[in-house]
Amino acid sequence: MTHLHPERFGENARAALGDEVLRGALRKATGLFGRQRGAAVAEMPEWEALRERARAVKAEALASLDVQLERFEERATANGIQVRWARDATEACEQVKAIAERLGRPTIVKSKSMATEEIRLNEHLEQAGHRPVETDLGEWIIQLAGETPSHIIAPAIHKTKRQVGELFAEKLGIPRSEDERELTRAARRALRHSFATAELGITGANFAIAETGSILLIENEGNIRLATSMPRVLVALVGIEKVIPRLCDLQVFLRLLPRSGTGQRLTSYQSLISGPRAGSGDEGPEEMIVILLDNGRSSVLADNSLRESLACIRCGACLNACPVYRQIGGHAYGSVYAGPIGSVITPGLQGLEKTAELPFASSLCGACREVCPVKIDLPALLTRLRADVVEGRAPGQGQRPRRPRRIEKAAFAFWRWLASDPVRWTLSMRVARLAQRAGLDRLLPPARAWRKGRALRPFAPRSFRERWKEDDRRGR
Ligand code: SF4
Repeated sequence: MTHLHPERFGENARAALGDEVLRGALRKATGLFGRQRGAAVAEMPEWEALRERARAVKAEALASLDVQLERFEERATANGIQVRWARDATEACEQVKAIAERLGRPTIVKSKSMATEEIRLNEHLEQAGHRPVETDLGEWIIQLAGETPSHIIAPAIHKTKRQVGELFAEKLGIPRSEDERELTRAARRALRHSFATAELGITGANFAIAETGSILLIENEGNIRLATSMPRVLVALVGIEKVIPRLCDLQVFLRLLPRSGTGQRLTSYQSLISGPRAGSGDEGPEEMIVILLDNGRSSVLADNSLRESLACIRCGACLNACPVYRQIGGHAYGSVYAGPIGSVITPGLQGLEKTAELPFASSLCGACREVCPVKIDLPALLTRLRADVVEGRAPGQGQRPRRPRRIEKAAFAFWRWLASDPVRWTLSMRVARLAQRAGLDRLLPPARAWRKGRALRPFAPRSFRERWKEDDRRGR
């Protein structure tokens, strides 16, 4: 499994920028998602009201999270679900491993779940000799490739059809093809056997409903239906922030989430699971276990401003809208959570020690805030984390504070000196204009490095003040 690291964001991003195939695949997929989202939103005059409602429901859930979680546990237990709690990744992985071990050497089928990616559950199970099989097509592709997801809802977004065809030819021994129907058929053939023999199913959940003790999973491929109904035992790993108070709240999120993610009015399947099968004539698992995962979420909850990030419903819209993500993809972030929300969640969950680069991976253009269905103010959270980095504060987790960057401090001090005096400012603009005309911005560091991946608009031949004075002289 290849893992990139968030502390090498700059290096990772530079490598991604040099990969034209990757950038082409990203442009195509994020552009398509963005256009489809725009069309789906345009047909909903009540879109803004829905966003407000979703934000309010999430705020209510987070403000009373302890109560909602206890209520969920109580109702789910009454439904026959075993509810367990995991403080961190190790505890969660150990709990799933113990269940697998109790079943012997079960065939394990998994559906796409960012929480299981976050805790690296597959690696943990594989080290213990188990072979979990991803059943979401995108997840299965990256599992075959030994990679991590590069998008919240489209894990293999960075791969072209040609690359997938080559991967399948290598791993499955089938003829090379770029025909998506042929490739999907090959995946279906390979996965069918796993479903038929599966004894343990592992999923995440889009929502956990406190009122009924149920979990909701949405999907398009039908693999979640199979992974939750065919195996004898079902384990759902659910981040504690996924709980919402009432069943009727789903009508808000079910209208927002698919439209924001893929531009669909509704996903093909919605599975609302409230417990194991009740009798021998029923469908579903004999045993159902929900593991409620903290793994840093309590610390984020305790932080009054970062708490807002826990409202994320993982639709992926902010990734598709982000000009940085669209150029470099998800792997560069070195975390399963990429894009603007990843640049907030990852430091929130892991601390800033190794993730201090991420809050700077944004142009702060505000596109992420515009598209977020729960109206998370991502630019404000990124700015807050930047301040934490610069001032050496640490969000939540008690790690060693990072030292402020000296070069950055010096650069801003110089900028203040220049911009706070009209004479100095006018002079500096003249010098910059002449330097650009002479092409020095392409030759001299640090402008040379900055220009490598960017185009700088030429300075106007005359400044506004010069034109004003001239016009004044001519009496215009
Ligand atoms: S932050 Fe908002 S837009 Fe981004 S994934 Fe979460 S819900 Fe979607």
